[in-house]
Amino acid sequence: MAHPRTVPGRTGHVVVVGAGLGGLAAALHLAGAGRRVTVLERAPIPGGRAGRLAVGGYTFDTGPTVLTMPELIAEPLAAVGEDLKDWLRLRPVDPAYRAWFPDGSSLDVIADPDRMAAEIENVCGRREAEGYRRFVAYARRLWELERTDFIDRNVDGPRDLLTLNLVRLLGMGAFGRLQNRVDRYFADPRTRRVFSFQAMYAGLAPHRALAIYAVIAYLDSVAGVFYPEGGIHAVPRALAGAAERHGVEIRYGTEAARVDVRNGRATAVVTTAGERIPADAVVLNPDIPAALALLPATGRRRRLRYSPSCVVLHVGSRQAYTRTAHHNIHFGRAWRRTFDQVIRRGELMSDPSLLVTNPSRADPAAAPAGRQTYYVLAPVPNLVTAPYAWRDGLADRYADELVATLEQRGYTGFGEAVEERIVVTPDDWAADGLAAGTPFAAAHTFGQTGPFRSPNLHPAIENVVFAGSGTQPGVGVPMVLISGKLAAHRITG
Ligand SMILES: Cc1cc2nc3c(=O)[nH]c(=O)nc-3n(C[C@H](O)[C@H](O)[C@H](O)COP(=O)(O)OP(=O)(O)OC[C@H]3O[C@@H](n4cnc5c(N)ncnc54)[C@H](O)[C@@H]3O)c2cc1C
Repeated sequence: MAHPRTVPGRTGHVVVVGAGLGGLAAALHLAGAGRRVTVLERAPIPGGRAGRLAVGGYTFDTGPTVLTMPELIAEPLAAVGEDLKDWLRLRPVDPAYRAWFPDGSSLDVIADPDRMAAEIENVCGRREAEGYRRFVAYARRLWELERTDFIDRNVDGPRDLLTLNLVRLLGMGAFGRLQNRVDRYFADPRTRRVFSFQAMYAGLAPHRALAIYAVIAYLDSVAGVFYPEGGIHAVPRALAGAAERHGVEIRYGTEAARVDVRNGRATAVVTTAGERIPADAVVLNPDIPAALALLPATGRRRRLRYSPSCVVLHVGSRQAYTRTAHHNIHFGRAWRRTFDQVIRRGELMSDPSLLVTNPSRADPAAAPAGRQTYYVLAPVPNLVTAPYAWRDGLADRYADELVATLEQRGYTGFGEAVEERIVVTPDDWAADGLAAGTPFAAAHTFGQTGPFRSPNLHPAIENVVFAGSGTQPGVGVPMVLISGKLAAHRITG
C-alpha cells in the first residue's frame, strides 16, 4: 500500500482555523505529536455546528443530537494522553430511537441485537426478526470492511482503494442501492424505513444511496446512541479543554480573513482584525467553499451537489409526554415522495417525517424545574434546490405547521405549552457560511464519496490541509472526528 502524501518541510507551528469537532480533533492529534498549535475560532465557544443555545432558562444543543461511536471521541483525547472518562460522562440512550408509524404503531430501536430481535418479533412477526439478524450480520461486516480501508485512512486517489476489501464489498453488493439491499432483509414497510432512512444523513434518498451506507444504520441502531451529561455540546467542550491543558492555544472571537501564500506555501493566517499569525502549516475546518475563500484562487472550483438542509425548531415547554422517548422518529405515510420533494423537486414535505428529540428527559438541567426541551428536525430543500425566502415569514409559518403536525401525531397541547421557541432555517445556516444553506455539506453521491470527495490535502498549496464534513471521509460527528485525525496525519506523517 503506497504511503499517503504528507506536508513537506517545516511543520513546527500549525494554525487551525475553526474549533468545530474536525478542527479540535486535528488540534489534539497535532499537539499529541509535538506540534505547537494555535486554533482561531470566530465564535465565543467551541463546537461550531455542535453549538449551544441558551434562552429563558432553557439550553439547547444546536446541531447533532444522535451521538454514536464514543470511541472516536476517546481517540483524539488519547492522542494527548487523556482518558474519555475524565472528560465526559456518557450514558447509552435506550431505546436509541422510538419510531412512530402512520398506522399508530411504534417500534423501539434498541442497540442490543437480542432485545431488538424480540421487539421486532413482537411488533412485526418472527420472519422480520430473522431478517433483522441477517441484516445486522451484513451491516457489521460492511463496517469492518469499510472502516480500515475506506474511512479511517488517507487516500491520494481511487487506485489506493484497489484492495481485497473492495473486492469483498463488491461481492456483498455494497455498490448496489441501499433500499434494494434493505428490502432483501425486511418485508414490513416499517422495518424497511427504520433501517434505511439514515441515508438522509448522507444527503440521499435510500433508493438512490449506495448500500455501503447501511453502515450508518449499523452505527446508530446496532452500535448504539449515547448522551453526554450536559448535552452534546459537552463533547467539543471536553476536546477544547483537553487541548488547552496540553498547550494548544485556542483564541475565541478571532476570525480568519485570509491565508497568506508564498511560492505555493501558506506562510500565515491573517485575522479580520489585521493580525498576522505566522504558520508552518494550516488546517482549515470551515465548510469547504468558505475554506477555499480564505485562499488565493488556484484553478477552477468544482461544482458540488449539496445535501438537503433542515429546519430545527427548538421549544422550551411546560408539557411532558409519557409515551415518547429521548429520540422519536415520526414517519409520514409518504416515503419515496418525501425524499423526492425535499431532494429533487425543492418542495416542503407534504406529509412530513420528523425527528423529535426530548433531551431534558435525560438531562433535567437543560430546562427549568418541571419544564422540557424539544428539538424538532424537519428535512427541507437546500437553498440551491429551492431558494425560499425563509426570513420573510416562512420560518414562522413552517414552524406553526410543524407544531400542528406534532399535535396530530400525539403531542396533545404542544402549541399551547410553548414557553420559548426558536426556529433555525436554511437562511441561518447560510448566514453561518454553510454553502447552499445546508449544515450537511456535499451529499455522499458516488462521485462525492471516498477518494472522489474533496481531498483533505490542497492540490497546489503544499502545507494547507482541510478537516471537517466537506472533506474526507464525510458528514456527521464520527466522520468529522476521523477527518481531524486524517488532517493531522497529513502533517505529522
Ligand atoms: C441540525 C443538525 C443536526 C445534526 N445531527 C447530527 C446527528 O444527529 N449526528 C451526527 O453525527 N451529526 C449530526 N450533524 C452533523 C454534524 O454536526 C457535523 O457534521 C459536524 O459537527 C461538522 O463539524 P465540522 O468540524 O466539519 O464543522 P463546524 O462544526 O461547522 O466547525 C467549523 C468551525 O469553523 C469556525 N469558522 C468558520 N469560519 C471561520 C473563520 N473564518 N475564522 C475562524 N473560525 C471560523 C466556525 O465558527 C466553526 O466553529 C448535525 C448537524 C446539524 C447542524
